Amino acid sequence: MTDLSVVIPVYNEEENLPPLWAELSQVLERLGLAFEVVFVDDGSRDRSAEIIRSFREADARVRLVRLKTNGGETAATDAGFKAARGRRVVVMDADLQNDPGDIPTLLSHLDHWDAATGWRVRRAEGDNLVRRVSSRVANRIRNWVSDEAIQDSGCTFRAFRRECLRGLVLYRGFHRFIPTLLKMRGYRVVEVPVSHRPRRFGRSKYGVLNRAVVSLADLLVIRWMNARLLRYEVVEDVGGDLVRD
Ligand code: UDP
Ligand code: MG
Repeated sequence: MTDLSVVIPVYNEEENLPPLWAELSQVLERLGLAFEVVFVDDGSRDRSAEIIRSFREADARVRLVRLKTNGGETAATDAGFKAARGRRVVVMDADLQNDPGDIPTLLSHLDHWDAATGWRVRRAEGDNLVRRVSSRVANRIRNWVSDEAIQDSGCTFRAFRRECLRGLVLYRGFHRFIPTLLKMRGYRVVEVPVSHRPRRFGRSKYGVLNRAVVSLADLLVIRWMNARLLRYEVVEDVGGDLVRD
């Protein structure tokens, strides 16, 4: 029985992987849980997959799920969720911007909540001004349009009870809306302060403009889904016990 699966989408992160694994494995070891780490290589063109294979050779708790071509962060996340065998699932970036030291805190909230999503409270340390401002504007617009109250919807450092991921249908770009999608299905989600660090190696896969434009379209879809959500409660089902399929 696996207690915890850590899912990590990876796209051209060769320099970040060794320090990430060193730090992450230490934190997980200290937790004393039966864990697996599922690296999802999203069609990297650098040595990422090879490096993950070398982790696996040294430690059988490492898994590599490799996508044939680059499918995007949501696709990689989805593949990781589907592969995860743990009772609880953590997802984090491969670029060292998330601090593995926050994993125990995220997990501690799962006793009372179905999911815990990171809130990068001291963003100033992690990203430049343009990204911080655009992320603040994006958060405001997202909350307004989707009638949400999430402080930091762009943070993809999260923990879940695995049952909430079953039946979660994602489309490209939807990794940003996972907390909202879960809430729509009746799960309880809490925001938890996490630290955020600068990207030391490699490059961000997004620009300010492409992120803003694409996610605006996604946002309208989320708004529509929320408006059209089937909200009903069955209060009587006379004779239903006779129907078997
Ligand atoms: N990522 C991925 N496929 C992609 C783009 C990104 O798997 O097509 C991964 C990337 O390697 C990282 C995470 O998703 O682990 C977040 O990407 P990034 O750090 O570029 O996003 P940012 O932190 O700039 O929002
Ligand atoms: Mg990043």
